[in-house]
Amino acid sequence: MKVEIVTTGTELLLGEILNTNAQYLSRKLNSIGFDVLYHTTVGDNPQRMQAVLEQARERADIIITSGGLGPTRGDITKETVMAITHTDSYLDLDTWGRIDAYFRKKGIPCPANNEKQAYVPIGAEVLQNEVGTAPGLWLDYNGKIFIMLPGPPSELMDMCEKQLFPRLLQRFADHGIILSRTLHLRGVGESRVAEILDDVIMHQSNPTIALYARYGEILIRMTAKAADDQAAAKLLDTCEAQVRDYVDEYVYGVDDASLAACLGQELLAQGKTIAFAESCSGGLASSLVTDVPGSSEYLLGSVVSYTNKIKNKLLNVQQETLDRYGAVSRETACEMAIGVRRVMGSDLGVSITGNAGPSASEGKPVGLVYIAVATEDVVYCQEHRFTSTRTENKLRIALAAISMAIDKLKEEKKQA
Ligand code: ATP
Ligand code: MG
Repeated sequence: MKVEIVTTGTELLLGEILNTNAQYLSRKLNSIGFDVLYHTTVGDNPQRMQAVLEQARERADIIITSGGLGPTRGDITKETVMAITHTDSYLDLDTWGRIDAYFRKKGIPCPANNEKQAYVPIGAEVLQNEVGTAPGLWLDYNGKIFIMLPGPPSELMDMCEKQLFPRLLQRFADHGIILSRTLHLRGVGESRVAEILDDVIMHQSNPTIALYARYGEILIRMTAKAADDQAAAKLLDTCEAQVRDYVDEYVYGVDDASLAACLGQELLAQGKTIAFAESCSGGLASSLVTDVPGSSEYLLGSVVSYTNKIKNKLLNVQQETLDRYGAVSRETACEMAIGVRRVMGSDLGVSITGNAGPSASEGKPVGLVYIAVATEDVVYCQEHRFTSTRTENKLRIALAAISMAIDKLKEEKKQA
């Protein structure tokens, strides 16, 4: 098993503290038969940490991080691992209870921001911290293991001796492997999928099947244990076929699939182009579309028409429409979609206008959003209500627009 140790913290790079965690981990892991092949140190910077972790997972089987699990904003290790493994988190009440008890024992009221530490990535297992607050985490993802340990050496060592090392030895005693595969579904709700798959999930132990919802899609993660990759892949193939028997019509991709990539595939398959007119999403839908390599084949351009003046001037939304119905209206959304389609000369024009929050404007409620898709002959418009924070709403809105564009492309193809 190849191990990479990723120590995090700008203090390490500044030379303010000595990297004793890396030395300790290396020494111990080598002594119990694991090959530590790389040490990497990175500061508390999301982009650089992400790049380091992505590189680590390319070249190692087990990635062990130290530091950055604290309650402050600068502690970003867990969030960064979640970002590269496309994992969401939930509030683990057991862990929250332990943190609260830790403070109570010390006679200090538990600070509210420690709640952050009780969020556990879905599918991860908690390594309890008996001498501090930050729980350690063990996350299996696509045949790789991410192990996140707290920075303070006393906490890290205690956790390693009592929990991590015994666990690694147990897990790799027979040197079996774990492999997972994720199906991405759209156009169906989580409870509906849970209902459809209830029987399959109940009677399945290897692979295990986990279900969760994430921004406009449902994920089904299957995790298999087997002697080697081939055997695990075979188990996953069988399981996937069985799951697809029930939900195949909703599956749009596997593993690293995204809604933006799905839209791209559909546009390429139909030889069509697209353009966005974005108001409250501030260009995020276009940004997501351009995350996909090769998107210049189909995204001609976009307009972030944040003000009424620009909606009118660049997209030719009629002043009368804006005066009469307001910027957040079905009428404005439709004219924006038609306008951007014409300006860009694309096959599809997609528009987004709404109120991302946190306060109402134009007398329209927070979270009210209109998304329109204009094709050559028709303009479709949907009304949505989003109820999260401003940043999260923007992402949900952008994904809803991408999703609607996919739907309309598919529907029009069917009708043709
Ligand atoms: P906290 O809850 O204290 O914020 P954390 O998991 O977020 O814990 P960091 O904030 O990265 O960890 O580090 C906390 C402290 O632990 C550092 O100030 C330093 O004293 C020590 N530390 C962190 N990393 C290392 C390391 N690699 N080697 C030695 N000591 C370290
Ligand atoms: Mg910290």
